[in-house]
Amino acid sequence: MMESFVFPGLTTRVVFGSGTLAQAGDELERLGQSRALILSTPHQEDEAQRLAEALGKRAAGVFAGAAMHTPVEVTQKAIAAYEKSGAGAVVSLGGGSTTGLGKAIALRTSADQVAIPTTYAGSEMTDILGETSEGRKTTRRDPAIRPETVIYDVDLTRTLPVGLTVTSAMNAIAHAMEAFYAPDRSPVIELMCRDAMQAFKTGLPQLIADPQSQQARTRALYAAWCCSTALGYVSMALHHKLAHVFGGSFDTPHAETHAILLPYTTAFNEVAVPEALAPIAEAFGGGSAGGGLWDFASEVGSPLSLQEVGISEADLDRAADLAVENRYSNPRPFDRADIRALLQQAWDGARPG
Ligand code: NAD
Repeated sequence: MMESFVFPGLTTRVVFGSGTLAQAGDELERLGQSRALILSTPHQEDEAQRLAEALGKRAAGVFAGAAMHTPVEVTQKAIAAYEKSGAGAVVSLGGGSTTGLGKAIALRTSADQVAIPTTYAGSEMTDILGETSEGRKTTRRDPAIRPETVIYDVDLTRTLPVGLTVTSAMNAIAHAMEAFYAPDRSPVIELMCRDAMQAFKTGLPQLIADPQSQQARTRALYAAWCCSTALGYVSMALHHKLAHVFGGSFDTPHAETHAILLPYTTAFNEVAVPEALAPIAEAFGGGSAGGGLWDFASEVGSPLSLQEVGISEADLDRAADLAVENRYSNPRPFDRADIRALLQQAWDGARPG
């Protein structure tokens, strides 16, 4: 029981279900927008074109150049297309990379955003934008970054490959894990995170057995919404810092990096806050939150060692240096030696005790 808390309220309108993509036009109208630029990655351009056709006159064009980690050069090209199109809004159809591009445009132009996420990465409910320029990744939080509307359409996640389904779900679980001990958490966020753990625990094995299962896809996307909300409304700590170090300075893939680090960062902080992380231990079994997540990762075939994303043992020293460059809050105090030891575990891939 939390004896005191602040709950800021949720500002984003959410439309969730199967076939909800068809409501994109109505949602734009609700925002008072008659024209929107559709955004996607090159890989999802066909879906973006189909959405543009369905939107008819409301579609001001398609920009299919979204890329991982929101490179500023891509944003500049997209803004030129946005301004030329005469649109007042963007519709971001895709994973975190596409949502990131929509946010970067909105921040610079005040465009309204309708985000239509197709992975479980969880950018859509947040006010966070990570961008890269000349090989450096910077992150900022600003209310102008948060999408006005999010449409979750379960049908769009049916094409998500099994590998990305698994790592993207682990990425989502990482948001909930850090929310459980966030100093600014509230009962609403905690309830959502608890529900998400159960939904992933039952939904993910079902999805591996049957990637087209409508019930399991619904469960997983619902859980992703809960975890995205957690990410968007409370502060994150060591786990997200380490994922940022590897993604930003070693260019490791986003979802896999979160997936690999998760059992080890959880076990590290569990020593300090076992009660806060008890909902994870309860959901995943195994006697501890870190151990339970490691067992679950093994069961669903999620990568468990930093070696699997091309990190060498020598890289761990530099990563540890970068991780302690700036101070940030974390439930368990640490120094460089602690981080180096944690990274060694994540590199060895052995089950945390
Ligand atoms: P992604 O958006 O790069 O997608 C990976 C690939 O999968 C892309 O080619 C994409 O087109 C494809 N894809 C997406 N959905 C698909 C589907 N349903 N079917 C088939 N293919 C599909 O990857 P991601 O993991 O979703 O997002 C990672 C990015 O998001 C990173 O840049 C990360 O920093 C950012 N992110 C930001 C926040 C935030 O709050 N700012 C939160 C989470 C992630």
